[in-house]
Amino acid sequence: MKPLSQLVLASHNAGKLKELQAMLGDAVRVRSVAEFSSVEPQETGLSFVENAILKARHAALVSGLPALADDSGLAVDFLGGAPGIYSARYADGQGDAANNAKLLEALKEVPDEQRGAQFVCALALLQHADDPLPIICEGLWHGRILHAARGEQGFGYDPLFWVEERQCSSAELAPAEKNQLSHRARAMAQLKQRLGLA
Ligand code: IMP
Repeated sequence: MKPLSQLVLASHNAGKLKELQAMLGDAVRVRSVAEFSSVEPQETGLSFVENAILKARHAALVSGLPALADDSGLAVDFLGGAPGIYSARYADGQGDAANNAKLLEALKEVPDEQRGAQFVCALALLQHADDPLPIICEGLWHGRILHAARGEQGFGYDPLFWVEERQCSSAELAPAEKNQLSHRARAMAQLKQRLGLA
């Protein structure tokens, strides 16, 4: 693989761009796909990896640059991996509180030992839009779904996600601590290794 001097991130989120730039350091300039297109591709894949690839392919196409995309969510064992790629809109777009209420309801009678779940982060890096060999990294963070919300930090499903190694919910972790343990951190660490930056 050619060394990367710049890449485009398939996200319009300035926070994600900053986080990625800090992680990759000065050697790689990270640009936003928003510089090249305001159109966001339809996420028609049925898995995290498929959606990450199609977002990265679109960003490579509109920018002419190597492109990185991420896709993430929560996969609950008892629900066959749901809400999965639909995590953000599990309760039909009504937001985090409604998503969490729906998840608690779906697991109402389910005992602790069957409440296993993982946060998932898939990253796809394409050298160009036709790249037949994307770099794929998947970070998994294993935990368990609580019976009630705990904690005020984080976002999304964090108040319901029990972190065994810290004996608290992920919404009770300090942000810096979550950033060391999380699915995103794990996927990013793999990516750094694959790029020879670790
Ligand atoms: P995105 O792909 O980063 O936008 O995340 C998709 C959805 O997955 C979010 O809207 C959340 O519902 C859920 N999610 C992803 N990562 C996290 C996390 O670290 N904590 C809680 N929820 C998450």
